[in-house]
Amino acid sequence: MFEKNQTELRADICEVGRRIWQRGYVAYNDGNLSIRLDQERVLATPTGVSKGFLKPDMLVIVDMAGKQIDGHLKMSSEILMHLEMYRERCDVGAVVHTHPPYATGFAVYGQGLEAPTLPEFVVALGGVPLAPYGKPSTPELGETVRPWIQDHDVFLLQNHGALSLGGDIYQAYYRTETLEHSALITFIARCLGRDTPISADEVPYLEQMRENLGLGFPRECLTFQPGSRQPAATGAGRAANGDDAALEALVAKIAERVVRQMRRS
Ligand SMILES: [Zn+2]
Repeated sequence: MFEKNQTELRADICEVGRRIWQRGYVAYNDGNLSIRLDQERVLATPTGVSKGFLKPDMLVIVDMAGKQIDGHLKMSSEILMHLEMYRERCDVGAVVHTHPPYATGFAVYGQGLEAPTLPEFVVALGGVPLAPYGKPSTPELGETVRPWIQDHDVFLLQNHGALSLGGDIYQAYYRTETLEHSALITFIARCLGRDTPISADEVPYLEQMRENLGLGFPRECLTFQPGSRQPAATGAGRAANGDDAALEALVAKIAERVVRQMRRS
């Protein structure tokens, strides 16, 4: 199984930082990213730095109790929310927290994205609940998502932003992309008049696809190879690198069935 060393993981955080900044998912020094290194340590972005200009040596390492154990810059207090995710979900290897404008618009409006609007959204994310507002820089922020944490990977945080979990940082990042893209499409549909959810008859088929791709719950825990202290194979990781062509073909098939059904009704 392919494993990454800490130098590669630091480079991954910098790369994802550039992507979230370039796509406008964060402004100024907003947002934070982290990767679980092993059972005791998390590699994370520091406070006060734009995610678009991260350098590998700017990152900090914190222990699971929230104490900084490495790095010359100061840890972000929002990392406490990431630690809560790692403590609650043993399958999570990375956390991406951003303020993507369309998704955050829904969070400010006071609505989650739970309706089955697009096949990709249902298969990849299931649904995105809205967690109540939590005080910034306190553990309360992570606690607000607790009611949904065991069966969701992406959350909207009321009047704040989005939180995505993944087996690795790219999976958490792509989940943020899917969230923002779906939020934008839902917004456009509402501007045009209304968003029509996928028919209730079609949803179980999509949920089964989600299950078949290893995206359902519960998930296998991340394991760490003795000595290497790096995450090994996980159900979530395998799903992230799963057969994209097969998924695309299935999604196209569903979309076709949905359109046929809509024409009939
Ligand atoms: Zn934030």
